Amino acid sequence: MISDVNDLPFGQYLNFEELGLPQDFQQYFSLLLTPEHQLLVLTCSEMHLSHLQFDLRRRLQRCATNAADAFAAIHELEVSAEILKSIHATQPPVRAEVSTSVEMAAWELINQALAVSSSDIHIETRGAYAQVFFRVHGERLEQPNISSKRATDMCNVLYGVHADADNKGVSWDEKQLKEAVIEHVSDQGVHVQLRLSSAPIHPAGNFHVVIRLLVMDEKTLRPLESMGYAPAHIECINEMLLGSQGAVFLVGPTNSGKSTSLQAFIEKLYTSRGRSIKVITVERPVEYLIRSACQMGVSQHKTDWIDQSTGSVYTKYVAATLRQDPDVVMMGEVNDHDSAENIKHLVLSGRKTLSTLHVYEAMAVFARLKEMGIPPSVLYMRHFISGVIFQRLVPLLCPVCASSFLQAKQRGLIPLNTFNRVKKVSAGRLKHIKIRGLGCDSCAHMGIVGRTVCAEVLLPDECFLTHMRQDNVEGARAHWLAQKALNLNDLGVGVIAHAVLKMQEGLIDPMDIERWIGPIVLEARGQA
Ligand SMILES: [Zn+2]
Repeated sequence: MISDVNDLPFGQYLNFEELGLPQDFQQYFSLLLTPEHQLLVLTCSEMHLSHLQFDLRRRLQRCATNAADAFAAIHELEVSAEILKSIHATQPPVRAEVSTSVEMAAWELINQALAVSSSDIHIETRGAYAQVFFRVHGERLEQPNISSKRATDMCNVLYGVHADADNKGVSWDEKQLKEAVIEHVSDQGVHVQLRLSSAPIHPAGNFHVVIRLLVMDEKTLRPLESMGYAPAHIECINEMLLGSQGAVFLVGPTNSGKSTSLQAFIEKLYTSRGRSIKVITVERPVEYLIRSACQMGVSQHKTDWIDQSTGSVYTKYVAATLRQDPDVVMMGEVNDHDSAENIKHLVLSGRKTLSTLHVYEAMAVFARLKEMGIPPSVLYMRHFISGVIFQRLVPLLCPVCASSFLQAKQRGLIPLNTFNRVKKVSAGRLKHIKIRGLGCDSCAHMGIVGRTVCAEVLLPDECFLTHMRQDNVEGARAHWLAQKALNLNDLGVGVIAHAVLKMQEGLIDPMDIERWIGPIVLEARGQA
């Protein structure tokens, strides 16, 4: 008998009503279809080998002979009553409507995008036709056009029928800004959250919709080492995760992999300290499943959670976490006075706190938090900020088809300014530097195979904080830049130094560095 949810086979749960089966069966059974088309009848112990179970089997066999895609086999599996209850609780609501051709087309498009690991689908109408793009590894790839009529129908179906409980019944209107969230299980049985956002665009009558695809799968988690951090960075990250208090900030613009990294940090904390720590996250909304954490999604729709005195949705959640005995709290984002105040409370009450912030370099965290109301007396306190990681994601070249930077220069394909900057920092490795090739079979003809983290890491020590307390920001920066432990191959400490290191190894294209981070100029080394 199965009594642990983790022991359940992988697959998709079928709906009794859609199969024409009486609802009463749900009390004792659940139907799980595996990717191999095996139908598993999960049966609670008391009904195992009962008449009712045989009756259900007979009915299912009848279903199978009628249905176009028959089950390969039917097996009964005994499970505990608690498991059955939890399965029913997580099942999606009954779909009242039978799949229409529009709906099928919408899901097909979504499944296609998932198959090539897209992060977003963009649909933009241009009069009678609509352009479709998939964003893959940060780049937009155009797909075959569809008619604007089809795009409109798809939006009506997705928004109207499948929006989740919070926004069910939202009727879509191309003339308005509209948002919705849909929970979806892909053909492979993977749970995906779709976040739709649409808006009218010029000229009148046109609209665009962006569908963000968030794969809520614990299996997508990658260890820090494979995300692209340098060994020196990982050592520092381990250091800042030590101890039972202090804030760790992951900073960078949107789409710089902050959420993925936070997820990996929490996993790392959990594995290093075992199940002895309780991790609570407050996110808006939850973006990835974190195996070890209690995740709370802050919803704008739940007005009773809004703090009346401040208007903030975070405050009440954070206040609640403090009563839930956490060791580690992850707060999605600090972006205003209230959220900064919350971080301050969490850290001062002795919790390890992880969060993200939108700034353009690691050092800027201090100025930004000060601006949001954290007083210098707290901000420059020892152990208030355990560490800061600034990061960007840069496309990773396909090792099979990447081509030579020098040859491209000879053919006049590299702007002179870029070439001069690259030459200056190439340390005699110009001939190893690569740029994007024309694409090949192993990179789906994109010339890139993913994205890699380029980062800079800041661990504020006593000397650094003393400079900051004296308002000597330049002195603090010089001290940071002179830290030997952070110096990457004598190139320096900053994010550009990390990118140059990868460029010298032929892993990333110099033009991509200038596009995603900035001009390839190394910062002068400071004095300790
Ligand atoms: Zn290739």
